[in-house]
Amino acid sequence: MNNINDTIGKVDLTALKRSFIDSLSNKEFKDYVDSLKIDYDILMKYTSSLEDSFCEQKKCLKCKSLTMCKNDVAGYKYSPIYDGKVVNFSYVMCPYKKQNIERLSYQNNLEMFEMPKELNEASFKNLYVDDKKRIPVIKYFKEFMENYNEDNDSIKGLYLNGSFGVGKTYLVAALFNEMAKKGVHSILVYYPELLRSLKSSFQNNSEFRSRFDSIKKAPLLLLDDIGAENCSPWSRDEILGPILQYRMENHLVTFFTSNLDIKELEVFMAITNSGVDKIKSRRIIERIKQLTVPMELVSKNRRG
Ligand code: ADP
Ligand code: MG
Repeated sequence: MNNINDTIGKVDLTALKRSFIDSLSNKEFKDYVDSLKIDYDILMKYTSSLEDSFCEQKKCLKCKSLTMCKNDVAGYKYSPIYDGKVVNFSYVMCPYKKQNIERLSYQNNLEMFEMPKELNEASFKNLYVDDKKRIPVIKYFKEFMENYNEDNDSIKGLYLNGSFGVGKTYLVAALFNEMAKKGVHSILVYYPELLRSLKSSFQNNSEFRSRFDSIKKAPLLLLDDIGAENCSPWSRDEILGPILQYRMENHLVTFFTSNLDIKELEVFMAITNSGVDKIKSRRIIERIKQLTVPMELVSKNRRG
């Protein structure tokens, strides 16, 4: 006589098999199941979970970004994982989610002050390549990426000048994003606004100090749009001078962008509301020259 437990086992198995075979009549589901390359004898025990994972997989096929995710747990796909004996189902992270996590973690390395948010997304991959005039700058950046390390005392930033809208800021931001991916911390500041904010925090000594120090000490710094500020003896001699002096002494890489070339900047820095001081201006220019290689970017205005 058959053991009653065996009989129940066989009935259950038959029912499982039938339900599995029924589901395979859906061609898409069958293709999905076949793509797993696991024996039907094993898979038939998991029809309902397989159907759930199939539904999620279908949504993934149409998906183009994390914000479009329609799955139960955003950024994850309910998926079968076979260990050679049993199939386990778990939530597996999708590529968009992975990318997002990587981006958030590298973006912690990039501090921006009064700069357009979209510069977070600037990257070598998105660079316009329609313009040959950018090639020397891009070449410099490629070499910079290869040679940069914190102990390399000879590596320099750029003094990048050119007219409004040619892409100076975007290019340096793209470099800093790439460096951030390598774990290098950088600060991009819109220089005229930095001066305004330092001035207004002047009464609050600790706020002023911490902002001033972080800019002085950042491993990579961009002073964006130098020459567009209201130049005063205070901004030139008490702010810019000490920042550049510290960065020079500590071999910290500093980039500048400006609408002015270095000669025009020298004239600009000499004239303040307290008169003309060529010597103090000269001192600033000497430091900038020590810190950078000059390059001019001539191109069309990219601003729409
Ligand atoms: P600049 O600093 O010389 O005034 P920007 O860097 O602000 O110019 O560039 C002007 C506009 O063109 C910005 O909106 C920027 O996002 C866009 N842009 C500039 N260069 C590129 C590039 N290589 N790839 C994609 N967008 C760019
Ligand atoms: Mg700019």
